[in-house]
Amino acid sequence: MPETQTKSHLFPNYARRPIELVKGQGTKVWDAEGNEYLDFIAGIAVLALGHAHPKVNETLNHQSEQIWHVSNLFESSGQEKLAALLTADTHFEHAFFCNSGAEANEAAIKLARRHTGKHHIVTFTNSFHGRTFGAMSATGQEKVQQGFGPLVSRFTHVPFNDPDALKGAVSDETAAIMLEIVQGEGGVNPVTDEFAETIQSLCDEHGLLLIIDEVQTGIGRTGTRYAYEQTVLKPDIITLAKGLGGGFPIGGMLGTAALGTSLGPGSHGTTYGGNALAVAVSNTVVSTVFEPDFLRDVEEKADYLALQLAGHYEVRGLGLLMGLVVEDSAAFATDMQSKGLLVVPAGPNVVRLLPPLNVSYEELDAAIEILLN
Ligand SMILES: *Cc1c(COP(=O)(O)O)cnc(C)c1O
Repeated sequence: MPETQTKSHLFPNYARRPIELVKGQGTKVWDAEGNEYLDFIAGIAVLALGHAHPKVNETLNHQSEQIWHVSNLFESSGQEKLAALLTADTHFEHAFFCNSGAEANEAAIKLARRHTGKHHIVTFTNSFHGRTFGAMSATGQEKVQQGFGPLVSRFTHVPFNDPDALKGAVSDETAAIMLEIVQGEGGVNPVTDEFAETIQSLCDEHGLLLIIDEVQTGIGRTGTRYAYEQTVLKPDIITLAKGLGGGFPIGGMLGTAALGTSLGPGSHGTTYGGNALAVAVSNTVVSTVFEPDFLRDVEEKADYLALQLAGHYEVRGLGLLMGLVVEDSAAFATDMQSKGLLVVPAGPNVVRLLPPLNVSYEELDAAIEILLN
């Protein structure tokens, strides 16, 4: 809270750090007192191109002078363009736009039920899918659900990366399996190759829909457009948000052609979804990130960062969704902040490094220097 204020009128549902970030440029941010930090939180994996990227700013400024919002009562060439960009060279046919990760997951859960006529969905321990009722019920963390019951029924949470447990949980009543390729909030836990194979064969065998929550892993964060591309998994649905807008709120869901008829006119919607400003910004962000050279850079930077830190930390994750195992993640994050590096916990013993995807090697070196001292 700024010093001049004595009382906050905000609900106290966030444990806020006692600084206010008032300016950002690339990977650097400044607080109200003028202190500089390297931002390896990036709005929690949101700022794919960092703060105040010139092309993104130009896009937003330009679009703001054309039109802000029209609702989904009308055609949208911006949404069409973004849908084409996101589904190009994939097996997906359709896109739906909303405003957040939780909303994207709500859409996925609703679509899975409507398409299959079944209700049971298998998700995993330590998963995180958002805070709305469906997404919260899908989430495999009690602390997220505490006090909010009764939850949406027919979700089963199975231990992650445990093939036998998963086989035991799937039945003829199961509509879908839903997972993150790397559990982000739950401790930076990547899916194992063996588990991915089990998931895909169960989906094939039982005709289950596969929903992959790419809200944190998607849009280049792991070094490929989508993280599932680095696995054997062939999802029917993926959900997106965070990096999709590079700082402007937008969520999205991609699905296969077969799912198109299950989401007919009037079946689902949102007033703000695919808002003209959001979609314009997202088109610039995604077209920049999806350049093969850009993605190769992300992978190389991630390898470089991991290599420098290995030997000093247990490093886990995929691409620039990186976790370091530490004794006390909250204390560690506070210490790093006092040294000018912003990092965010993922559970009690892991901190995440989530720099903008266009972070420079100079900035990586500066962060490494802080992390190793
Ligand atoms: C952040 C996150 C969400 C929720 O996104 P919101 O935009 O906060 O609703 C869902 N799933 C995953 C994997 C996330 O990391």
